[in-house]
Amino acid sequence: MEVDERTGLYVYSDTELDRAEGEAIESLKAHCQQAIPDPDKWLEEELRRNILLTSVDFMLNWARRSSLWPVNFGLACCAFEMIATAASRFDISRFGMEIFRASPRQADLMIVSGTLTWKMAPQLRRIYDQMAEPKWVLAMGACAISGGTFVQSYSVVPGVNCIVPVDVYVPGCPPRPEALLYGIRMIHHKISKKSIVTEG
Ligand code: SF4
Repeated sequence: MEVDERTGLYVYSDTELDRAEGEAIESLKAHCQQAIPDPDKWLEEELRRNILLTSVDFMLNWARRSSLWPVNFGLACCAFEMIATAASRFDISRFGMEIFRASPRQADLMIVSGTLTWKMAPQLRRIYDQMAEPKWVLAMGACAISGGTFVQSYSVVPGVNCIVPVDVYVPGCPPRPEALLYGIRMIHHKISKKSIVTEG
């Protein structure tokens, strides 16, 4: 710091000014208080653990595909494989499906397993019509898909899709339970693509 001879004022050098400013800042830092802790910090963790953001379509489709209830429609030898699928070894209840319903009003999946005859066709259609929407149909085995080995017969329907709309076909004579489970997974996949907006 020097005195200007002309004006008689004090003149500070840049270095002195910088040092003085630095000392002032350090003094403020030394005496400043700790930041007040956020009282709502716990809320962030609670929100993260308890709130799930998703779409209505996703939730609805998740609920539907996780609780498909099949209606009993075993018609021939393929039905034994369907029954085996429901037993403990293959454990269809893993998919929320252990309840094979005797009433179509409580079912949303029809597994047609076996040979469909023309004599039985009206009953199949009536049961399908009694099922509540939305509903799905799985044709299990060659007979259900196309009449199978009996396709030339006067009495056999050449495919369940002649009577009701079919969503998934599971080929085989008979298909093994693993194949039926794969077909069911395909229906799950189909359900997960649905939208309540386009369903109207
Ligand atoms: S596909 Fe084969 S196992 Fe199934 S119902 Fe027909 S004949 Fe029987």
